[in-house]
Amino acid sequence: MIFFANPKSEYLFLKKKIDAKIKSVLNSNSYILGKQVKNFEKNFSKYLGINYCVGVSNGTDAIIMALKAIDIKKGDEIITTSHTAFATIAAIVDVGATPVFIDIKEDDFTINSQKIENKITKKTKAIIAVHIYGNPVDILKIKKITKKWKITLIEDCAQAHGAEYNKKKVGTFGDFSCFSFYPTKNLSTFGDAGIICTNNVKMYKKIKLLREYGWIKKNLSIRDGSNKRLDEIHAGILNVKLAYLNKFNNKRIAIANKFLKKIKSEKLILPKVTNNKKHVFHLFVLRIKNKKREQFLKYLKMNKIFSGIHYPLPNHRQKPFRKYHKTKLPVTDKISNEIVSIPNYPLLKKKEVNKIINTINNF
Ligand SMILES: *Cc1c(COP(=O)(O)O)cnc(C)c1O
Repeated sequence: MIFFANPKSEYLFLKKKIDAKIKSVLNSNSYILGKQVKNFEKNFSKYLGINYCVGVSNGTDAIIMALKAIDIKKGDEIITTSHTAFATIAAIVDVGATPVFIDIKEDDFTINSQKIENKITKKTKAIIAVHIYGNPVDILKIKKITKKWKITLIEDCAQAHGAEYNKKKVGTFGDFSCFSFYPTKNLSTFGDAGIICTNNVKMYKKIKLLREYGWIKKNLSIRDGSNKRLDEIHAGILNVKLAYLNKFNNKRIAIANKFLKKIKSEKLILPKVTNNKKHVFHLFVLRIKNKKREQFLKYLKMNKIFSGIHYPLPNHRQKPFRKYHKTKLPVTDKISNEIVSIPNYPLLKKKEVNKIINTINNF
């Protein structure tokens, strides 16, 4: 049996260090916004090459807080893709804004930047660019558009820790970048956690206020805010695991390269990789041609290989978001019926990788 994802394998691999870290946090008598969170924010900003990072409760809250930091209000429009996690759209709707969906490119599943400009109106306040599956969007083209129209660029990097565009890390191009450390992500903890990064000191200070009741110091509030803090215990685990992010990403990339080289089937379309982009393969997503997906899924299951679909029902067809579906999204709709994510994670064994390749080649 081959699991689709296996965060526990990362725990077992790093058990000694993680157990020691958890024990030290428990013994520290400091559980909220202490040394671990501070260190992780410093370490992660150094890793990315950005001035400021604020550890928060999860990736969805990270996006919500970025939108709140630019004072998004009811009726404001936020441009993004429907082909993303439910979380991206949920965050937009949570602050009362209206998501405006742009179709994706068929060859790499990322936002079609050519379709953005004619969706910009007076109400457009931001673009959320999603580096879906770990593959960078055409970020420079999008940045040019946000500059021209004086709107905010938010990068959703929840699937793209360590991915690069022109040798520069994603998450350093936008006005804000939002990361999730959900258990299956490229950098993860064993629970919920997230981070927001920016180079803008004013926005950094605002996000810190939003994280904790608008407190300028303990129990003195200068604006509204809530509790969106990152826990010490998760920050501690993230400090241990950050040191392994490059190694784990390299494993994902090596497995993906093997899939790209060895999977040979007329019935499938393999994912595209581009020279100027470092794709970190949070997910390895194939397309199954000729309406054979159900058959393919059954076949994998029969061979005890678990797979996933990211995502089976596109956001513009989800009940709470249907009302925002204003233009046709033919590529998003087409792709959602063809995609299958196959197992790809750092501690997948060589034997398992070979079994996946052989099984797929015999489909
Ligand atoms: C996982 C994910 C999120 C949300 O992160 P959570 O930590 O689960 O709230 C946002 N956007 C994308 C693209 C994701 O994959």
